[in-house]
Amino acid sequence: RFMKYKTQMVSSSFLHSDSDISLYGNVEIAAEAIHLKEYQAKGIGLLRSEFMVLQARSLPGFAEQREFMASILQKAGYISTTIRTLDVGSDKVAEFMDMTSEANPALGLRGIRYSLAHPEEFLIHLKAIVSLCELAPIQIMLPMVSMPWEVVKARQYLHQAIRELQAEGYHVPDSVPLGIMVETPACALGIERFAHLADFFSVGTNDLTQYIMASDRGNKCVGDLCSPYQPPVLELLQRIADASKSMAVPVSVCGETASDIFYLPLLHGMGYRSFSVRTSTIPEIRVVLSGIDSKRSRYLVEQALRCSSAEETIQLCDNFMAEIL
Ligand code: PEP
Ligand code: MG
Repeated sequence: RFMKYKTQMVSSSFLHSDSDISLYGNVEIAAEAIHLKEYQAKGIGLLRSEFMVLQARSLPGFAEQREFMASILQKAGYISTTIRTLDVGSDKVAEFMDMTSEANPALGLRGIRYSLAHPEEFLIHLKAIVSLCELAPIQIMLPMVSMPWEVVKARQYLHQAIRELQAEGYHVPDSVPLGIMVETPACALGIERFAHLADFFSVGTNDLTQYIMASDRGNKCVGDLCSPYQPPVLELLQRIADASKSMAVPVSVCGETASDIFYLPLLHGMGYRSFSVRTSTIPEIRVVLSGIDSKRSRYLVEQALRCSSAEETIQLCDNFMAEIL
């Protein structure tokens, strides 16, 4: 589907203003950060910090963690960066990690749950992240949040990390923005409960889809079911956009859907205006977004919300793309 439109997109000449749209890059390794400036990304919208742990032989300490993340910031030109705290567990497990075996690891001790169960490691990790405030504007994001108390607890550790760093002579601010990934149904359905706790929301459509559809995102046998084009996923994404707007909490999408040029018009029509995407896709995404206007994308979403299968939604999105290009 993508290749069919690629050439047309690049030669597309009807560029509207995309001034109300913010585009950020998702980064896992330093090499991905190099082009962000050239692509005029507003920043790194998702730095997947777990990659420094998964590649290591033993748990990296403060200095190693700081160095790993600082090298990414340096490659990115010290632009504003949202660092996600370790999203380990489930399919992302390093050999040295203290994990008991779990029958359903995707529903187990992953993300913020793992961090809160290992407070000493979490504090070192937070200190390594906060220390980077000396280099660039930093925001912190918590993965796999399902309950408000997890954010309350994490914020306490964040305050402790800031106090300790200041006492050690680091020039870090008294507070650092703390946001959450919206990627569990518990968080998405109860999003109002997080409005006064989180400084921003970032929607993780990869996990949100797997948990809404009760289908493993890495299991090909249920690949069709585990699709963000499924109507229940659309409904919940619309609800998150509406709730964020009415509670005035900044929201963006950092899951794969934002890097899918066919899905973007849906996100746009739901009201999302901030996206963190696979870095290499930024130029194409910019062109597609500049061809979308609010009236048409809204109409697309109204139609999509009446679909009863992913196939129907995909067909709608295909037609929409053929119309705008
Ligand atoms: C997501 O779940 O959509 C997400 C961005 O996080 P990850 O893919 O790293 O789990
Ligand atoms: Mg996720």
